[in-house]
Amino acid sequence: MTQLNIIIIFLLLSSSILCATEKEHKKRHHEAHIHGHGKLNAAIERNKLMIEIEVPAYNIVGFEHQAKTDKQKSKVKQAVDIFRKPQLIIKLDASAGCSLAKKAEVKADLLEKKKEESSGNHNQHRDEAEEHSEFHVEYSFHCKKIDNIKAIHVRAFQQFSGIEELEARAITPKGQFTQELKQSSANFRLEQ
Ligand SMILES: [Zn+2]
Repeated sequence: MTQLNIIIIFLLLSSSILCATEKEHKKRHHEAHIHGHGKLNAAIERNKLMIEIEVPAYNIVGFEHQAKTDKQKSKVKQAVDIFRKPQLIIKLDASAGCSLAKKAEVKADLLEKKKEESSGNHNQHRDEAEEHSEFHVEYSFHCKKIDNIKAIHVRAFQQFSGIEELEARAITPKGQFTQELKQSSANFRLEQ
């Protein structure tokens, strides 16, 4: 395990994004997920930058139950396609010379079949009322001059107007940073 992985795991644990089991995953959603509010975690180590974003699905596609109709499915797919293009979601200082180290990872809970999906109408209704799901995105970059990254500018607010706030956290060689990002202040500063 690389040091970067350890840093990232620490970061994830501390912001409770990492879920050990599906059960825990569900439970946590009930506790922690507030519509309109997402999370952005970033870590820099050596020439690597990793960014992770988690946003309630409600603020991306307007619902959190499993996508059932073709219209719902295509809405989710469209959103996934946007998230797969990091240039639409974030902007990095061009002078840092960053390029994707691997394909963007985009996970949307509401595209996955859930085991506990019930057969009866009554239960189904109840499940939908309680259900939460999220979009989870991971980008990892290699950067030629990583010291030139002074900030991460977040464009996700323009793509998805339902995102009101992103709680941003970063660990870099320059220190730890936290900031509440909004459409009106979408520049996550990574310098004192
Ligand atoms: Zn929700």
